[in-house]
Amino acid sequence: MISLPDTLAAPGVDLHMHSTASDGALSPAALMALCQSRGLTHVALTDHDSVAGVAAAAAAAERLGLTLLPGAELSVQWRGLTVHVLGYLPEGALAPMREGLAAQAEAREARNLEIARRLEAVGLDDALARARAGVTEERPLGRPDFARALVEAGVVPDIAAAFKRYLGAGKRGDVKMHWPYLGEALGWIRASRGVAVLAHPLRYKLTRRKRGLLLDDFAAAGGEGAELLSGFQNPDETRDLARQLAERGLLASRGSDFHFPGGPLAPGTVSDAPRTPVTPLWHHPSLAAFAGRVGRASPN
Ligand code: AMP
Ligand code: MN
Ligand code: MN
Ligand code: MN
Repeated sequence: MISLPDTLAAPGVDLHMHSTASDGALSPAALMALCQSRGLTHVALTDHDSVAGVAAAAAAAERLGLTLLPGAELSVQWRGLTVHVLGYLPEGALAPMREGLAAQAEAREARNLEIARRLEAVGLDDALARARAGVTEERPLGRPDFARALVEAGVVPDIAAAFKRYLGAGKRGDVKMHWPYLGEALGWIRASRGVAVLAHPLRYKLTRRKRGLLLDDFAAAGGEGAELLSGFQNPDETRDLARQLAERGLLASRGSDFHFPGGPLAPGTVSDAPRTPVTPLWHHPSLAAFAGRVGRASPN
């Protein structure tokens, strides 16, 4: 068992990835195999609003000798914006979290009806059926499924254009209002003795001041960390974010937000860690077993 380092410079760790249990392209088992082939040792599965892939990922991780941390990426609302919260669940999802995830699935169903209605108004007939077509998994749909439907119907040339014109922030198909408030979702995570981490704080197009407010509210609601390293980012912004985390005593995490092979990001891909001192998420007492600090049998 490998113990994790005391800094975020830990190339074997990726704590943010998606599978076919949400909008990822790989099954949980195929994702774990890819992680292992890339030399990762400690990984988290964080599907959108779901832990449905965790059992299959755990079985594959065990076979492959990977250490898996169960998780989910929750969509929540904060001051009228949608932000994402990673809930890490070393003990699994207990009842309040399970109920919360069921509510998230319902929120998605309601939201999908509204997204479909709005896309039909711009000429995508039977939008819901088109988005559902080709999705073989039993999972709630999301905006990427509508993006694919728009491409297949020839309304837009590619997925990027679908988000740019119809589904991205502030566009017609960006339906808000269905998500729980930040504090409510953090309650589900805490009731599972989990650890709440703010996902990709640099991706919300916030000013530094407003990002500080988000981090303040997040910490006040019981959030304990934030993703300092998420995929590719600007080193100056990373350093600035590191300071904002250090000021608040928030732990720092790293994750690729991997969705599909063939793009620029692969499991384990993040920008370099800044020199600003921060404490890695895996120092959290609840993650000691994950980090290989306790409870390990001696080699035999
Ligand atoms: P939803 O969870 O239904 O709100 O869908 C959000 C997901 O859409 C994100 O997690 C990404 O996987 C994907 N997404 C968001 N913006 C874009 C974009 N501009 N291009 C491609 N995919 C995107
Ligand atoms: Mn996604
Ligand atoms: Mn996200
Ligand atoms: Mn994600």
